[in-house]
Amino acid sequence: MTTTLITGANKGLGFETARRLSAAGHTVYIGSRDAERGRRAAEQLGVRAVQLDVTDDASVAAAARAIEAGGGLDVLINNAGIQEEIGADGVVAGAADVTADMMRRTFETNVFGTVRVLHAFLPLLQRSAAPVVVNVSSGLASLTRSATPGAPGYAYPGVAYPASKTAVNMITVRYATAFPNMRINAVEPGYTKTDLNRNMGLQTVEQGAEIIVRMAQVGPDGPTGGYFDAEGTVPW
Ligand code: NAP
Repeated sequence: MTTTLITGANKGLGFETARRLSAAGHTVYIGSRDAERGRRAAEQLGVRAVQLDVTDDASVAAAARAIEAGGGLDVLINNAGIQEEIGADGVVAGAADVTADMMRRTFETNVFGTVRVLHAFLPLLQRSAAPVVVNVSSGLASLTRSATPGAPGYAYPGVAYPASKTAVNMITVRYATAFPNMRINAVEPGYTKTDLNRNMGLQTVEQGAEIIVRMAQVGPDGPTGGYFDAEGTVPW
């Protein structure tokens, strides 16, 4: 039996991933910073819910204790994320407008949150026979694409969100090197219609969740330390 935690899974890509992995036979925990939103989402899918705010040490520690008491963890999906630089009007705050505070808030969730959750759940993952971590990154994390005129994301004006996801990619590589017994990969779901981008994305959540679901199911011989989208490898 495989037990899987997905952070920020009360809606969007995380929710769809929970639906798919539950259907594939995983015991799924929906992590949600709001206990009631998590409870409702879990009830809809017939999975478990755990309160988990990735920016809060006590919340993450309590979630780790609860999942440990529930029998442990095999698969961790660091999915919770924010893209605060997209305003309510859909306009992206670019280099002229990014502030240190915006960078800090973005990194608090996307980067420090990922490390906080990894740190708390590593002891549980170490006890799994086939531990897997999926870090939900973004195509905007790619330094190669960002520096290549015409490449996907080249014209994106924001700074905080892409920088945070580039950090997620480095975190992925460093942890994969440190824990060769685990499969630890970063994924790019593609531009998907969710609240994150004011529902301007072009893909459905079913399409976006595809690579997350696939990399959550890699076996011990599968790749680690990589960066993938549904088509294959993404350039760093
Ligand atoms: P979404 O629908 O806005 O979902 C984001 C989830 O993260 C929500 O459940 C949200 O909870 C949760 N979250 C935010 N801050 C949190 C915190 N401090 N602690 C715990 N949970 C928190 O967006 P999405 O598109 O599904 O995004 C999922 C992941 O995919 C993100 O990492 C995003 O960067 C990545 N991604 C998305 C796209 C895309 O086009 N959609 C493309 C590339 C990568 P609340 O409901 O409480 O706000």
